[in-house]
Amino acid sequence: MLLIGSHVKFKSNTQLLGSLEEALSYGATTFMFYTGAPQNTMRTKLDKNLTLEAIKLMKDNNIDYSKVIVHAPYIINLANNKEEDKYNFSINFLKEEIKRCEELGIKYMVLHPGSHVGLGTDCGIKNIINGLNIILEDSNVTILLETMAGKGSEIGSNFKEIKKIITGVKNKNHIGVCMDTCHLNDAGYDVFDFDKLLNYFDEIVGLNYLHCIHINDSKNPKSSHKDRHENIGFGTIGFDALINIIYNDRIKDIPKILETPYILEYPPYKYEIEMIKNKKFDQNLKENIEKQVN
Ligand code: FE
Ligand code: FE
Ligand code: ZN
Repeated sequence: MLLIGSHVKFKSNTQLLGSLEEALSYGATTFMFYTGAPQNTMRTKLDKNLTLEAIKLMKDNNIDYSKVIVHAPYIINLANNKEEDKYNFSINFLKEEIKRCEELGIKYMVLHPGSHVGLGTDCGIKNIINGLNIILEDSNVTILLETMAGKGSEIGSNFKEIKKIITGVKNKNHIGVCMDTCHLNDAGYDVFDFDKLLNYFDEIVGLNYLHCIHINDSKNPKSSHKDRHENIGFGTIGFDALINIIYNDRIKDIPKILETPYILEYPPYKYEIEMIKNKKFDQNLKENIEKQVN
């Protein structure tokens, strides 16, 4: 079965059940969520009953919960330790997020490696490794390092940096990678020959570390280091190349998650998933959603 979904909301009153219902309404077979607002660290207490109800509903709908993904908030930065209290806050907050994932029964959490903000790549990588070794000490959750576009001083826009981090992490069973097609393109990788890219990733990092792929088109050309997502088929990567990636046999068991932009504040995922399932691009998708909203 094709594992396709999108990021969905996690509301304090409906929690995992609400996230799942949103995903099901898109015809998704998997999903990703933040356990609270991605831009802050406020978190509501988890409701066990909602979790249990959601897990039951997943079983009824053949959704493999072991592949559902959490994304860590993106304000967390493990690469920068200029201010000790901020760095320690990042570590402690991620430890709490791991505990929340464990409470929910989630296995994978995607994390942006971080930005060194002037400290230099080597120092940034050292800080990330140090932080991860504290966070993963007794973790049952696997942290997936996301491949980044290389905006500003972002670490992780090339596979060699990702490899360096993995090499430094002691708990090898709980570290992995999440690719992002927009980021790969913006970082300078050729996503049009995805098999070749997978070979290269396998050589540098190891395909066994890959557990998730974010499927996004890009507003910008290859090597732009911009990180601006575009709707499927409307960007510089294009529909055919993304379909080739989504249906690549070597990653068929890996969840594929859309993080494409809302259209007039309306989530496009139901329609994008439909296009992907039919392997047929609808160039009127944006207009049709705009018409519905107005
Ligand atoms: Fe991300
Ligand atoms: Fe992403
Ligand atoms: Zn991005």
